[in-house]
Amino acid sequence: MPDKNAPEHYEVIVVGAGVAGIYQIKRLADLGVNATLLEAAADLGGTWYNNRYPGARFDSESYTYGYSFSKEVLDEWHWKEAFSGQPENLKYLNFVAEKFDLRKHMQFNSRVEAAHFDEGENIWRLHVCDGRELTCRFVVMALGLLSIPTLPRLAGMEDFKGESFHTFDWPHEPVDLTGKKVAVIGTGATAIQVIGEIADKVGDLTIFQRRPNWAAPLNNYKVSDANMAAIRTRYDEIFATCARTPGGFEHEPDRRGFFEVSREERVAMWDRLYDEPGFGIWLQNFREIFTDEEANAEFSEYIAGRIRQRVKDPATAEKLVPRDHGFGVQRVPLETNYYEAYNQPNVHLVDLGEAPLDRVTATGLRTTERDYDFDVIIYATGFDAMTGAHDRIDIRGVGGARLRDKWRTEISTFLGIFIHDFPNLFMPNGPQSGSASTNYPRGIEIGVNWCTALLEHIWAHKYARAEVTAEAAARWTDHVEKMYEVMLMRKAKSWFTGYNSNVEGHEEGTIRYLVYNGGMPKYVAAINDVAAEGYKGVAFSDGGPSGTTRATLEKTA
Ligand code: NAP
Repeated sequence: MPDKNAPEHYEVIVVGAGVAGIYQIKRLADLGVNATLLEAAADLGGTWYNNRYPGARFDSESYTYGYSFSKEVLDEWHWKEAFSGQPENLKYLNFVAEKFDLRKHMQFNSRVEAAHFDEGENIWRLHVCDGRELTCRFVVMALGLLSIPTLPRLAGMEDFKGESFHTFDWPHEPVDLTGKKVAVIGTGATAIQVIGEIADKVGDLTIFQRRPNWAAPLNNYKVSDANMAAIRTRYDEIFATCARTPGGFEHEPDRRGFFEVSREERVAMWDRLYDEPGFGIWLQNFREIFTDEEANAEFSEYIAGRIRQRVKDPATAEKLVPRDHGFGVQRVPLETNYYEAYNQPNVHLVDLGEAPLDRVTATGLRTTERDYDFDVIIYATGFDAMTGAHDRIDIRGVGGARLRDKWRTEISTFLGIFIHDFPNLFMPNGPQSGSASTNYPRGIEIGVNWCTALLEHIWAHKYARAEVTAEAAARWTDHVEKMYEVMLMRKAKSWFTGYNSNVEGHEEGTIRYLVYNGGMPKYVAAINDVAAEGYKGVAFSDGGPSGTTRATLEKTA
């Protein structure tokens, strides 16, 4: 007799209904697996459900960002802009979910608060915010890299009488900024999109900048029916190119040596790339930009010149030129009218390097120098990147080991997919996976396909438990860490190196090795080799599954 009080059991639970989770649940549904997806938010979409701030849009060409797995989706969906905006992106994800009838596998408002591995049963016990306990044999964490927004640690935030929100938590109902006095804190990729979009719509805009960022033009354009028809004929070629480039884009690095080319040729190339759409200026550039101080300094100076051309007030222009890092060693924001915004009389730049923020007041913000009054404060202050969403769940593996404690001392994974001592838990796009430094969905599809093949392997062999060996995890982590040695990125304070001044323990000082820097082709070769060698580094065992699970395993196999 089945125990009526036993928790709902699934073969696989996917956590997160973003781009990764949607595709993962589709693959599982296609296989007929007893699987469900738990999502904290009220609906699907992840990044594109949450980030509703004005100006939110892809920095990837839309047609390289979309899923590649379905010819029908590619044929039916019409991207309207080369770099599509948030409302359209959310529609797209809904279109995919509806087309494949995926909603029936998803549970919303179901934040997973804890996930504990039950070593006796070799199952995961998940505690959901509504009080339910669910169990599963395998858990796939598709939590997103940038899904935990972080606010400054400022006194008085609750005292502010106007409206204030982190960009990630932008209200679903329209926010009328017309004529308002608005503050934006931060000058990362998000702030740069917001500022370009709202500068000419608000009454007054004050930007609080701690450190400037190197940004370059997005050069967005409308996609006509003819453009779209041409894109559709090229999809195979587009995805083949994305698969062979380090960043998973159509942009391929210039393989000539920086110093083999004359200065005139370099500048001519940069002039061309600056006017082209997307990340070409970053990713079609010479590879030395990422590794060689001198090359990077020369190129950074070129971009500084562009900033000086675009910002009329020389003092403001100088404040917008980064001094502490070179171009491209942090994630490059792409912008539309960002620098021109500073030419408007209603836009003001406050350099927090001169006078840091002191506190939030009832009417605005106070720096160490003066008070500012606002109707709206926009916190574009970033994320507890990559490990943050995992840290927020009480994840406990073998011997009750807590993931958040383990990662406090060292981020360690195998392929960015497995974590030692956390059996049967997989991350298709985890820290140290190929996804973080690539055109995200390209990495996601690869990660999800790999995890799905792994699960099929497990089911075919009727294993109950799969875990990475300590040696394999140490080897991968060492490999990831070593790659930072050649990258100038290691010197920059950004989420690529695990920096976040608003999260305890992530303040500057220690690099956290979060990003796989080898590029997508090398990453894919590495994970494919592991699979081809019978998942070398992964230990499988038949740990005596519970009856329910055994039945599911047999059905699936
Ligand atoms: P971010 O790059 O981490 O930028 C956060 C900004 O807030 C920085 O300028 C930071 O200054 C500032 N800040 C943080 N705490 C502060 C404090 N206490 N006081 C004053 N300033 C503070 O975050 P983001 O802009 O949200 O971007 C994160 C990532 O999201 C991007 O790198 C990108 O990968 C992704 N993103 C993608 C898109 C897209 O694809 N279209 C768009 C937006 C974002 P410091 O630099 O001094 O720390």
